[in-house]
Amino acid sequence: MSAIAGLLREDLRGFAGYRSARSEQVDVMQVDGPQADSTIWLNANESPWANAIDGDGSLRRYPEPQPGQLRSALADMYGCSPQQLLIGRGSDEAIDLLVRAFCAPARDAVLVTPPVFGMYAVCARLQGARLLEVPLLDDGRDFEVDFDAVTNVASEQGAKLVFLCSPGNPAGAALPVAAVLALARSLAGRAMVVVDEAYIEFADTPSLVQCIGRQPNLAVLRTLSKAHALAAARVGCVIADAEVIAALRRCQAPYPVPVPCLQQALRALTAEVRERTENGVRTVRSERERLRAALVSVPAVRRVYPSQANFLLVRFDDAGAAFQGLLAYGIMVRDMRALPGLGDALRISIGSIEQNRLVLAALQDTAVAA
Ligand code: PMP
Repeated sequence: MSAIAGLLREDLRGFAGYRSARSEQVDVMQVDGPQADSTIWLNANESPWANAIDGDGSLRRYPEPQPGQLRSALADMYGCSPQQLLIGRGSDEAIDLLVRAFCAPARDAVLVTPPVFGMYAVCARLQGARLLEVPLLDDGRDFEVDFDAVTNVASEQGAKLVFLCSPGNPAGAALPVAAVLALARSLAGRAMVVVDEAYIEFADTPSLVQCIGRQPNLAVLRTLSKAHALAAARVGCVIADAEVIAALRRCQAPYPVPVPCLQQALRALTAEVRERTENGVRTVRSERERLRAALVSVPAVRRVYPSQANFLLVRFDDAGAAFQGLLAYGIMVRDMRALPGLGDALRISIGSIEQNRLVLAALQDTAVAA
């Protein structure tokens, strides 16, 4: 058994997952040759005719479980092989699959670094996995990961999965590649290190995807929801060792990629559209720096964290008043006050140039009124 197979849930070893009509069909086609056009497919209880709304008939049949064209396009863009990539319904689904595949309920543990994106803890809770918390360091630093503490806690308390977020949500700091790799090396054979790169397109730091070949206990999450502006299409993926990907696939629902979402994602990945996406990312990055510099001089603002993502975490003298002041301008931001250590903070997504101008106007008004 490989070191990676040894990390998977013991009670799921030998588990083949669900065999859908579509996946059996793919196997038959591979053995008997491509006869799709002449074959009458009566193996999946589908309708013999299209719905009246389905002009091109693309919705009548169940979709490919992992559509090859999208898998290749994503793998090309991210710099991995298609076998190292699993498409899911957003990276949210990838998080859930990782926890289910690696953590036996009531036994295995997930390590998180709060304050951080809440889905890692939610999935751990739903799975009945133990949750280990190693808080980010904020005393004069910018919510840095305490790598020594993560290594120690993960080793001593038996974490199976370590979730890191780079750039981090909600503070926006990108993690040093060397430190992540050192962590993965020190936990090799004992835990998977999962780096959530939902916002990496906005960062200066390179992706860790390129390191997966050398470090099989490393996994990376990517998504089309942020830089690619396709949050509603629900297309995200996990990139990892091919053996991990095959195991995750066995835990996934039979048909996770709806055809309309697939079609839109493929259109968004053509060279021409990607160039426009990259222009948008450049604008967000420059707006982020402009807004940050302007916010620093707003009197009601205590601190603006440097961010490598498409949002800014901002501490206020009175975050409640700032939230209400923005609301009065019709602007909704994320209220972070309920999170430990963030009682005075709001998270503001970078908007269009005009929206960012309004954010500043609203906060300057609030400061004047206060
Ligand atoms: N990771 C992080 C850090 C996020 O902030 C989010 C969404 N807010 C996600 C993952 C989930 O993204 P999606 O499921 O849309 O890919």
